[in-house]
Amino acid sequence: TDDTRIRAAIPTIKKVLAEGGSVILMSHMGRPKKNPDPKYSLEQIVPAVEKNLGTKVEFAGDCIGEKAAEMAKNLKPGQVMLLENLRFYAEEEGKPRGLAEDASKEEKDAAKKALKEGPQKEFVKKLASLADCYINDAFGTAHRKHASTAVIADYFDAGNKMLGYLMEKEVKAIAAVMEKPAHPFCAIIGGSKVSSKIGVIKALIEKVDSIIIGGGMTYTFAAAQGGKVGDSICEPDMFPVALEILELAKQKGVQLVMSPDALIADAFSADANTDVAPADNIPDGWEGVDIADEGKKAFREHILGCKTILWNGPVGVFEIDKFATGSKEVALAIAEATKKGAYSLIGGGDSVACINKFGLADQVSYISTGGGALLEYIEFGDLPGVAAIRD
Ligand code: AMP
Repeated sequence: TDDTRIRAAIPTIKKVLAEGGSVILMSHMGRPKKNPDPKYSLEQIVPAVEKNLGTKVEFAGDCIGEKAAEMAKNLKPGQVMLLENLRFYAEEEGKPRGLAEDASKEEKDAAKKALKEGPQKEFVKKLASLADCYINDAFGTAHRKHASTAVIADYFDAGNKMLGYLMEKEVKAIAAVMEKPAHPFCAIIGGSKVSSKIGVIKALIEKVDSIIIGGGMTYTFAAAQGGKVGDSICEPDMFPVALEILELAKQKGVQLVMSPDALIADAFSADANTDVAPADNIPDGWEGVDIADEGKKAFREHILGCKTILWNGPVGVFEIDKFATGSKEVALAIAEATKKGAYSLIGGGDSVACINKFGLADQVSYISTGGGALLEYIEFGDLPGVAAIRD
């Protein structure tokens, strides 16, 4: 559906070919649970890779095994081969398959340990034996300690493993924002749940001047402070965390900006009835699905006053056009601020999809190919995929 990540990997591949090397591409697509699974075969991307690279790409049909090994051995300088989806093997992620649904945590942990200590090592050895050099250019999965993204680096000497150009570009773009940002620095954090963004919000409080909180998270914050959120998405077990964030922001002098109003819907669908309500007083039977006029005005004005802007997560259910106008306003304001000289970094599949949906991709400073990786890099200041190459 989208070749952004393929295009992003091309400069590194071309560099290797231009220097007289041959390239074995390995990657994953989707979350296959079996081997093989034609729906997720990487054979489908061969035409897109060939088109972007301008070179023929041979498909190996598997990622390990005799055929792949034979093809790798016979590769000549300038030639490219593509391995089959790494995630056809449970060894790639190190997540055991076929466990009984009612397996206990102990059983699951034991199966994971056994997989990582046995089959995963064999799998990685076979992958590593295909090549002389290992380049990691997969920023989008650099926060995972998987066989192909981190473990494999142990099988190459320091001089024979490196980061690709995309990785370098991504890491530099994030460093530009996190290390020496121009102020005021605002992070816009949307999406569905507090639980998945909590770590990054806490880390950002140490760095930014303000955080715009949008999306489904709004209602956990509202309810934690005694508001009424109707049927909106809400995580009661996150109330203490939401209150802690509010307190922490106050202590650090970080402004938390939330929409005073909400677009509410009586169903999670395009043909739902809609209305507007205060974000902390939503009637039962209705749920907050986007920001409304007051929120749009507040977010826009705030964004226009900033010099560094980081955006992760839509501020509404942008997949449904009727609920996408808040996210569109945010995207437009970011583009306008960028035009006025602000540095804007957009990351996370959904925010990037928003920017693309509204045709603004060329009006922001940097679009990251990573979602989880971007957030974890901000949170921890490092990523397993990057550390594996360096250490
Ligand atoms: P995340 O993966 O956490 O960044 O969340 C992205 C998802 O959040 C998108 O699919 C949005 O539809 C969803 N989202 C945004 N606002 C809301 C909301 N008010 N209620 C439910 N889901 C939302």
